[in-house]
Amino acid sequence: MRIAFVSDIHGNLEALESVLKNIDGQATPIDKIFCLGDIVGYGPNPNECVELIKKRASVVIVGNHDYAALGKISISNFNAYAKESMYITRKMLSVESIKYLQDLPLTAQHNNITMVHSTPDEPEIWQYASTIEQVADLFPYLKTSMCFLGHTHIPYIAVKKNINSNPIFEKCDDVIKLNKTDSCIVNVGSVGQPRDKKIDACYAIHDSDKNSIDIIRVPYDIKKTQKTMKENKIPDYLIDRIAKGR
Ligand code: ZN
Repeated sequence: MRIAFVSDIHGNLEALESVLKNIDGQATPIDKIFCLGDIVGYGPNPNECVELIKKRASVVIVGNHDYAALGKISISNFNAYAKESMYITRKMLSVESIKYLQDLPLTAQHNNITMVHSTPDEPEIWQYASTIEQVADLFPYLKTSMCFLGHTHIPYIAVKKNINSNPIFEKCDDVIKLNKTDSCIVNVGSVGQPRDKKIDACYAIHDSDKNSIDIIRVPYDIKKTQKTMKENKIPDYLIDRIAKGR
């Protein structure tokens, strides 16, 4: 089976549409799309993104920005730009979108795959694991051999060969082939607001027959997204950052 993982869409409709088009155009068809949260927040088209994910993804979990949009978590620790855009998102969200986001689970499992937005140890407190040391600390909490997550907007593939070895980050530019006994934690990057100095939308494909992981980059019409952001009075800082990938 081939599964596409998307995460951190953040109301960026052009990025999401381009990713879905790329998924649909894959030479070997994709069987399922799983979404790892943060459908809304920052971007100007939260409802359209919720609609598309609702229609296309068969597993969807919740992210901290989705929770913030629902008022389920405080945004007091959000920076000024994130706060301002969150107020805009809250005003924009339709009753249908709110209802949909409210019902999403914090984690999900599919065969040997755990899905979580932030970290598998305490998914409800939205911690960031970015360094290999931080990621290494998460492996003991896994009940499955694979874990897919998002949250930091920076993709990585951390592979651990056996229980006693330290995990390493593999190169995200290559298709990574896993051995049967490997365990891994994969950050699938961000569709709508990449922060790894690359501006193209990011997602991941896992092929369970080949036991492979592929991080895919997809260009999209950033100018169009920026124009809609401007029209909706989203802070300039957030408009600029999607063209910088940070
Ligand atoms: Zn996010």
